[in-house]
Amino acid sequence: MSEDCIFCKIIRGDFGTEFVYETENTVVFNDINPKAPVHMLVCPKKHYPSLNEVVDKELLGELLQTVQKVTKKIGLKSYRTQINTGKEAGQEVFHLHVHILGQK
Ligand code: 5GP
Ligand code: ZN
Repeated sequence: MSEDCIFCKIIRGDFGTEFVYETENTVVFNDINPKAPVHMLVCPKKHYPSLNEVVDKELLGELLQTVQKVTKKIGLKSYRTQINTGKEAGQEVFHLHVHILGQK
């Protein structure tokens, strides 16, 4: 938990954000400013500023498994995933997240 991290606050339930899916170590919620009809964010519950800080191979696997599970749950067969790492690459929220973008 990072005190000034917006995603940590969402994950802690501070804003009552609905989780589309949840596993032991990950949560999925809808992007507040969707760039596609379906735009979800998969986050580890634990705070990592970006992909560069994660050494836990199981967590890395769980993040992608969560992508598989949540897309299956909502019946989304075709989608794009994106991880922005670093300011120059467009990362704005420094809590690791995988974007899932798709059509309905
Ligand atoms: P990044 O550019 O860091 O890869 O993506 C950050 C994403 O988080 C953006 O798509 C942005 O719309 C989303 N976002 C920023 N603040 C919030 C928020 O408070 N709630 C939700 N649900 N999404 C947010
Ligand atoms: Zn965080």
